[in-house]
Amino acid sequence: MKVTKADIVISAVKPEQYPVDQLPEIGLAGRSNVGKSSFINKMIARKNLARTSSRPGKTQTLNFYIINDQLYFVDVPGYGFAKVSKSEREAWGKMIERYIMERPQLKAVVLLVDLRHAPSVDDVLMYEWLKHYEIPVIIVATKCDKIPKGKWQKHLKVVKETLKKKPEDPLLLFSSETGYGKDAAWGSIIEHMKR
Ligand code: GDP
Repeated sequence: MKVTKADIVISAVKPEQYPVDQLPEIGLAGRSNVGKSSFINKMIARKNLARTSSRPGKTQTLNFYIINDQLYFVDVPGYGFAKVSKSEREAWGKMIERYIMERPQLKAVVLLVDLRHAPSVDDVLMYEWLKHYEIPVIIVATKCDKIPKGKWQKHLKVVKETLKKKPEDPLLLFSSETGYGKDAAWGSIIEHMKR
């Protein structure tokens, strides 16, 4: 997809603030530092839209980006639960749960994992949770430029087995550094948008 227009429309903390225009939405989730902002920026061919807009301090918001007036990317705040307090974790959980459960226009969630490491306990919980709510998941293993090509299959196997990936969910390689996997990621997103 050639992105000609991309803008952040709202950083929402509650459903009343979600956009009302019924366009399909693709969620983006992953632990902090996995490369989620870099993924968004690469996909929409912008240097800094995600990074600059999504980090006003540590506010936990759902950031809605409208793309070509056709769909929304919904940036879910990164997890990394070890570092946050129980109350913050609960607030995060409630906000995401509300969004996921009350949003028929949510077509899929892109779950980003780091190809270099086995998915964390939090990654596994996130995947299980999305599956519990029957949300289609596009698993994107990012930072693939950091692993030699000859080892990609081995690392993908670890990702697949650790997450207990469902056969219907695609697992794609990606690099924000080289742009590898961008077309495949768009292909999968567009396919899910039409469902
Ligand atoms: P976020 O916290 O998930 O939004 O992560 P960022 O997008 O801010 O990325 C975290 C760090 O990983 C930054 O230093 C990025 O430059 C780096 N990074 C992100 N994606 C890639 C990638 O595909 N390849 C490489 N080599 N580095 C990446």
